[in-house]
Amino acid sequence: MHRVESYVAGAWHRPPGDGRPVLDAATGRTVAELAPAGLDLAAAAEHGRAVGGPALRELTFHQRAAILRNVGKLLLADDTKEHLYSLSYCTGATRADSWIDIEGGAGVLLSYADKARRELPNSTVAVDGATEALSRDGSFSAVHILTQRKGVEVQINAFNLPVWGMLAKFAPAFIAGVPSIVKPASPAAYLAEAAVRIIAESGLLPEGSLQLVCAEPAELDSLLDCLGGQDSIAFTGSAATAAALRAHPAVTARAARLNVEADSLNAAVLAPAAAPGTAEFDLFTAEVVKEMTVKAGQKCTAIRRALVPAGCLDAAAEALASGLGGVAVGDPRDDATAMGPLVGLAQRDEVSASVLALREAADLIVDSCDLSRVDVAAGAFMAPTLLRATDPHSSVIHETEAFGPVATLMPYGSIAEAVELVAAGGGSLVASLYGADQGEIADLALGIASHHGRVLIMDSSMAAASTGHGSPLPPLAHGGPGRAGGGEEMGGMRGVYAHMQRTAVQGSPDALTAVTGEHIAGSSTREHKGHPFKLTFDDLEVGDSITTGSRTVTRADIAAFAESTGDRFYAHMDDEAAARSPIFNGLVAHGYLVLSFAAGLFVWPDEGPVLANYGIDRLRFAKPTYPGDEIHVVLTCKRKRKVDGRGYGEVAWDTKVVNQHGEVNAAYDVLTMVANAPGVDGAPEARSDG
Ligand code: NAP
Repeated sequence: MHRVESYVAGAWHRPPGDGRPVLDAATGRTVAELAPAGLDLAAAAEHGRAVGGPALRELTFHQRAAILRNVGKLLLADDTKEHLYSLSYCTGATRADSWIDIEGGAGVLLSYADKARRELPNSTVAVDGATEALSRDGSFSAVHILTQRKGVEVQINAFNLPVWGMLAKFAPAFIAGVPSIVKPASPAAYLAEAAVRIIAESGLLPEGSLQLVCAEPAELDSLLDCLGGQDSIAFTGSAATAAALRAHPAVTARAARLNVEADSLNAAVLAPAAAPGTAEFDLFTAEVVKEMTVKAGQKCTAIRRALVPAGCLDAAAEALASGLGGVAVGDPRDDATAMGPLVGLAQRDEVSASVLALREAADLIVDSCDLSRVDVAAGAFMAPTLLRATDPHSSVIHETEAFGPVATLMPYGSIAEAVELVAAGGGSLVASLYGADQGEIADLALGIASHHGRVLIMDSSMAAASTGHGSPLPPLAHGGPGRAGGGEEMGGMRGVYAHMQRTAVQGSPDALTAVTGEHIAGSSTREHKGHPFKLTFDDLEVGDSITTGSRTVTRADIAAFAESTGDRFYAHMDDEAAARSPIFNGLVAHGYLVLSFAAGLFVWPDEGPVLANYGIDRLRFAKPTYPGDEIHVVLTCKRKRKVDGRGYGEVAWDTKVVNQHGEVNAAYDVLTMVANAPGVDGAPEARSDG
């Protein structure tokens, strides 16, 4: 019998003592054995800090992203993912359920790899926001930088999504440069273990960046006891366990950061105008049925409360009963099965007890299905269970989380009442709204936003493209206020920054340039004798600069530009109207004409390292340009981003168009792609013909 092991300090550890069986959710067969880890878990934290952290800090964001991408691809390879699917069936998950967990989890890695490449510099430090000028003479400024904390992240995960739950937390921590120690929930620990084994055996990750502790909760104290201000705990699970962690001295006395994702009684609301017969009514009933039955309702985002206008209650009950009646419950390995069992018999007992509690304020509408094909004594099967509230304001309905295929239907009389009922859940991860009357939808969305981390608005125009109520997506923050734990995970770069320390660094522009690796306004430049556009990416340095020659902007230029582009805005055409404007003192040049003349002044015309201009950032027309003004350009290499293996890098040029009085007319960053030196990192070799 396979005994679930821990992966600590680069080695697998088999628990020494007596084990207890973990049963297949459908058949009751023993799948694996669990036993106390019997390890000093402080060693995992020490290894993460001493080995994983330094190894990660050696790598830039882009290098970490490349590794993450390879791990994602590894998990999606046919043989690896099929191995995970075969184990996932044992947890009661159907193939479709497991897709969310396994391929969805690998997808989060790919998504983070992609975002990090596009949104972070190829560096170990990120700059957060613009430079703050702190003195009139420009000699004293500040920037906010983000650097990785020198601790570990301890994940304590729920049983329902053993792979996705782990990878969705691992990806942003890894990109940030923080090692992870994962404690999976016992009922599905063997699946998390299999995924970590695949990753560890691949050798793709720097040593110490991912460890696994399959331990009893009581053993975790040896790990939590050594956490402090550089460390974090990311918890997903019940509110009761969250409360115990919130009170732990690691959090209360030593300021380890705690992120909690806990119980959530998510709602779906049918808007008043979405009557039976509308597309939105059908979308509502289909989504409630789907959310009750995917993963047998064991999803933190599942719909637990379905709110409909009082006049639609009977029609909604009938449509939901009909939808649930078509759900085939059975062994997840059977292709005909739409909903598998719960993760285990204990979980079924817990959900049944919650249904009993809910019946204080609700009647059963649906609670049976055809279970003739399965062994109900051995497997944790349960029929989808729909209740109808007899008292929609009863707190039982809004506070009892039945973590299974259970939802309560309830009527509301007005939008204000719907908002009140949704808020009675005390804060949720997600709510979905169904309706095409945008006024009603806006009132509902703004009314409930304070109590939600995410709101999905469903109508027929986007239904086919929608990822649905239950899908947390890597670019969007996942988490919710109040009862849902008050935590936040993922959310693109927000999730990465949560693992980093934001530091306001104050000093001279030159000092700030040295710290950030980016040219900070006011810092020293190196004026080039030639033209910096003739330098390759490798030869170019941040601060390389050129001041161009000048040209005068004439009335004829403005008239010709208006003629050729068709932009005949009055301020460029009519002296008197322009003079009446509160903004201008008379006829002005088009801003785009100024940009075009600027390009004419700074562009080096011949074939050379600058391959393309792919955009402009932060453009501001700071002062109007009048006929007769003489403009020149100061162009400075502001930021370089290496792009591995493409033969070029990205260069942002701080660009200022300046008039004869020394005033800045326009300021912006020109974004270019600049070739590497010949033969370097994918660039073509130098041509032999010279
Ligand atoms: P749980 O009993 O709270 O367990 C969650 C994790 O905490 C497990 O790994 C568990 O280990 C561990 N744990 C238990 N007691 C602990 C303690 N005293 N100290 C430290 N760790 C401890 O929750 P669950 O039953 O696995 O999961 C179901 C719950 O999770 C539901 O309430 C659901 O709403 C919630 N959930 C929330 C989200 C979200 O994102 N908001 C996502 C999924 C699930 P063992 O398994 O070894 O006991």
